[in-house]
Amino acid sequence: MTAYWCELAWLGGGEAERGVLIDVDGERIAAVTSGVPAPLSGAVRLDGLTLPGLANAHSHAFQRALRGRTQHGTGSFWTWREQMYRAAERIDPDTYLALARATYAEMALAGVTTVGEFHYLHHGPDGTPYDDPNAMGNALIQAAAEAGIRITLIDACYLHGGIDRPPEGAQVRFSDGTAEAWAERVGALANDSVRIGAAIHSIRAVDPESARVVAGWARTGGRPLHAHVSEQPAENKACVEAYGGTPTAVLADADALDADFTAVHATHLTDADVDLLGGAGACCCICPTTERDLADGIGAMRQLLDAGASMSLGSDSHAVIDTFEEARAVELDERLATGERGRHPAVELLRAATGRGHASLGWANAGRIEPGARADLVAVGLDSVRLAGTDARTALESVVFAAAAADVRHVLVDGRTVVEDGRHTALDVPRELDDAIRAVMG
Ligand SMILES: [Zn+2]
Repeated sequence: MTAYWCELAWLGGGEAERGVLIDVDGERIAAVTSGVPAPLSGAVRLDGLTLPGLANAHSHAFQRALRGRTQHGTGSFWTWREQMYRAAERIDPDTYLALARATYAEMALAGVTTVGEFHYLHHGPDGTPYDDPNAMGNALIQAAAEAGIRITLIDACYLHGGIDRPPEGAQVRFSDGTAEAWAERVGALANDSVRIGAAIHSIRAVDPESARVVAGWARTGGRPLHAHVSEQPAENKACVEAYGGTPTAVLADADALDADFTAVHATHLTDADVDLLGGAGACCCICPTTERDLADGIGAMRQLLDAGASMSLGSDSHAVIDTFEEARAVELDERLATGERGRHPAVELLRAATGRGHASLGWANAGRIEPGARADLVAVGLDSVRLAGTDARTALESVVFAAAAADVRHVLVDGRTVVEDGRHTALDVPRELDDAIRAVMG
């Protein structure tokens, strides 16, 4: 049993509590006591504001190698995608292990305790499976373990290069040929210490009948199901022309929408799409720093929440890894789009970053500081230039609207200290990132 005394801690209410003692027994929180004015002897002192673990609900780890390299010149999502495919062509299981480990360690430093890895880089460069057909997925699972964070491997079915087009170029690495072959491969993944989720990559890459197979596989196994949905207007147009409905409508027809479904991006939705996702109680994973970077647009998160959907957050392409930046961007981008302030209170954004994010990855007992929950704690220092002067009564607003990943001082995952005084306990993260990215990109 280890006791942590938090100067301030967020226990799910509208304000941070002062003087919170958290008893941790192994991997779980055993007890939470508020109003303890000073640290007990023997308790580990956590200054600043302690939050539950953050969930990064949408990641493509290999895209960390693109940071900065795709920021010059002009273009669109579609020209960026060509650059992304060139990086994807260069990765093998060994280089992917190193790159993903460093990327997940960067996430740990930012307070992320669980990553949802949306994984489609499955096979060898010419599309031939590796001797272990899950070599790439297993590299990602190993990477998360070595970086000290939890993973839900969301293995994505990817069959077509576009509607009615075979995979080409790097896309041949993504495809299993059929949804049934995808299910057989994913069924062989180990599933004891990690969660295995399913994904329909997108309606561009999975036809409606195959989407139904993937959705059925996920529901039968009680697994989270994710899909990229309406990230770009061109995707909607092609889908309507081919199938007579929007991607959301096609997914609804394929019986994919329920409370275990997460629509990633959900940027360009019709009112009917919003009603379908809200009515199903689905989650929408917003990735604002990537959506900005790719000129995708601004989604209608307030409308989705009001309709009954929930929200999670992801750093997706890792243009930036900073969950505070993703959280405030949901509110700040909507302010620009609507001319209104205060559409998403700080507490709502924190819930998306913690408990809701974990739920969308299949970890219902993580992302909350309460007895029985997984012992994930993230202590945010309030003494940096960004946060100096924070008032305890508005500490949640200060952190959501002004903190940076660099303000994370201490991170506990399943009761184990992964970040101490702002440093990763096992890895030299900047050096590992530098080595891993140069090994892939030259
Ligand atoms: Zn994505």
